[in-house]
Amino acid sequence: RADVGLYRAKQAGRNRTVLESSRRPPLALELLEAIARETLDVHYQPIVSLQDGGTTVGIEALVRWQSETQPGVTPEEVIRVAEEHDLITKLDQLVLHRACHDAAVLQAGAPDRQLVLSVNVSGLELIEADYITRVDEVLRATGWLAHQLVLEVTESVLDVDTPAAIDSMRALRARGIRIAIDDFGTGYSSLSRLKTVPADFLKLDHSFVTAITPDASAPPLLEVIALLSVALGLPVIAEGVETPHQAEVLTELGYLLAQGFHYGKPQSADDIALSLRTNLASSA
Ligand code: C2E
Ligand code: MG
Ligand code: MG
Ligand code: MG
Repeated sequence: RADVGLYRAKQAGRNRTVLESSRRPPLALELLEAIARETLDVHYQPIVSLQDGGTTVGIEALVRWQSETQPGVTPEEVIRVAEEHDLITKLDQLVLHRACHDAAVLQAGAPDRQLVLSVNVSGLELIEADYITRVDEVLRATGWLAHQLVLEVTESVLDVDTPAAIDSMRALRARGIRIAIDDFGTGYSSLSRLKTVPADFLKLDHSFVTAITPDASAPPLLEVIALLSVALGLPVIAEGVETPHQAEVLTELGYLLAQGFHYGKPQSADDIALSLRTNLASSA
């Protein structure tokens, strides 16, 4: 698995190795402790169907953690620190377990629809030899069903030639788990790679949606991506929808799914349970 080393090196960056566990800086140590004590939070953001006026069809799990020594650390920084200091496997595992557990509770409260749970997985975790076994264990322990789980992998995983990542995606899909290519449009995956990648959804990076403003016509790229989605047979989930106008434009262009502050912010499991009930009532 030479590609694993290459990928790790790429992610870890200059002058760092992921195995420097004995030399972790304070923030990484604090994160290590939070993971061990399971004091990280997971929030959930609704994913809605555009073509039927915004019914919630799924939720994305997003990690939340506040450092006591460095308040204001963003989730992106948390993930970066975890990846650089060999903590990402444990973090992703904790989030997956918590999310499947919470989703099972949510699903029990909404028996008339089938919720889909999306969970992010780091490329570093995806290529671990025992990753698939760990996913199996979480599903068994929580009772969450494979066909109601989507794992989100960032497009940059496809930048490097990583057969290990592709193998993992295939193994996950063989179980009925679906794969979404996250932050689509920001990486460098070629059309030929996209055609063969074992994926089920494209998550369009929010920068494309932000480009939809009332004072200009729809960005031509959005039309091209809509066509590409049909040609590849990969439905798009448009990220970062903040305004009714953006929702309208995407709907007219034929986009099927969306996520963003316009529909709901990431919220605690209790709060998303409440808003699911309201969404159900208003769409009924
Ligand atoms: P992502 O997977 O692309 O998640 C979407 C991000 O966009 C989230 O940021 C979400 O809060 C934000 N967002 C949603 N709607 C809007 C909107 O309308 N406007 C704007 N401006 N932003 C919106 P967040 O929670 O800060 O997470 C950042 C990234 O961190 C995620 O991007 C994902 O790549 C990573 N991440 C989060 N949780 C996990 C995790 O458990 N494991 C791994 N490996 N990565 C994670
Ligand atoms: Mg994501
Ligand atoms: Mg994204
Ligand atoms: Mg992102």
